[in-house]
Amino acid sequence: MKILILNESRHTGLHAHTEKRCAVSPSTVSKLVRKGLVVFIEKGAGLLSHYNDSEFESAGATLIDTADEIASEIDVLACVNAPNKLMVSTLPAHTVVIGHLDPFFQKSLVNQFAESNITALSVEMIPRSSRAQKMDALSSQASLAGYVMVMKAASRLPSILPMMMTPSGTIKPAKVFVIGAGVAGLQAIATAKRLGANVLAYDTRPVVAEQVESLGGKFLNVDIGETGQTKDGYAKELTDEQKAILAEAQKEAIQSSDIVITTAQLFGRKPPLLISKDTLSTMKPGSVVVDMAALSGGNVEGSSPGETVKINDVCVIGTGNWSEEVSRAATDMYANNIYNLLDEFIKDDPPAFQLSFDDDILAASVITHDGKVTNQLLIKSYEGA
Ligand code: NAD
Repeated sequence: MKILILNESRHTGLHAHTEKRCAVSPSTVSKLVRKGLVVFIEKGAGLLSHYNDSEFESAGATLIDTADEIASEIDVLACVNAPNKLMVSTLPAHTVVIGHLDPFFQKSLVNQFAESNITALSVEMIPRSSRAQKMDALSSQASLAGYVMVMKAASRLPSILPMMMTPSGTIKPAKVFVIGAGVAGLQAIATAKRLGANVLAYDTRPVVAEQVESLGGKFLNVDIGETGQTKDGYAKELTDEQKAILAEAQKEAIQSSDIVITTAQLFGRKPPLLISKDTLSTMKPGSVVVDMAALSGGNVEGSSPGETVKINDVCVIGTGNWSEEVSRAATDMYANNIYNLLDEFIKDDPPAFQLSFDDDILAASVITHDGKVTNQLLIKSYEGA
């Protein structure tokens, strides 16, 4: 069984983005080889996460100059991002492609997978269950994102996060407001608390209040009526009336904060707009806002995708690709997620990918198979588009 790993820094992905992460680490290559897989890696694939070719070679991988050398013979393509259409056109039928395939927003690529008889597995669709935790790439990358967003904000703040009492005076702890307390938000809360900040947080799912408090943060209680969550634990979209109450209630917290970090997402849809330019204009000079969702639509009006901008005297960070800022940790975690997934579903001697739609993880995450789009959520979303 042959698995191919791309050098994604060479723009092999769907978007022109210099990806720093890699779908394997030397440690997971060793484990895949022990499992009986032949691992082909494009040269330089690990360089931006600080793993050099020789480490992969010592772990048992075969290095290749370009993917074309082997693409037509492989069984599995494991990537961080969706491969581009040209790459997909070189893959044989029945290849299993695994990665962040962004399927709700990449209908044409998903159709190409189906038409090419490729079994595409989208890591974003892996259920958030206990059994799937070790494969949950959304969580591993969001945890790192939460940490990175606080570090970025701290480096832009013209003050410090902890209280500092010195003979030269006392600096009060910074006030940090985190909106959205999912995986990334909770990690941001924990990181800001560790650095000594006072942390306030809000989420439309009241069930997370206890988690916020257990990390030492305060939860902002706002009564907006029924909010609820989907059966998978994702937030539901709010009504216009709820959005208006919320925006008003959060205004004061935003105005008095030194740092605001927004992490709100809606599964399969554009993220909600949380902070208007008007509210932004009432913030203290020198404050910092981090918009986690800037690349996918933005939680903050005026944030610029991929950039850090000044609006009045407020620094708005929308650089995105957060986990890549700590590329080695991000590669290590993602590579483990991919290895755990392959280890779970590659069985038998010789090894082969065992696809069963009776398995809840595969039923949710395999989005194309046997010439068809197989995921009902996607089919519905494409019909509604
Ligand atoms: P997410 O990235 O989809 O959203 C981030 C947070 O934003 C969520 O907590 C959401 O409720 C919140 N949000 C959405 N709209 C908002 C708004 N208008 N204002 C404020 N907050 C808003 O979330 P996620 O981190 O991917 O987590 C999704 C779910 O999966 C959660 O229920 C989480 O507990 C669960 N989860 C479970 C496991 C597991 O059991 N293995 C692992 C990870 C996550």
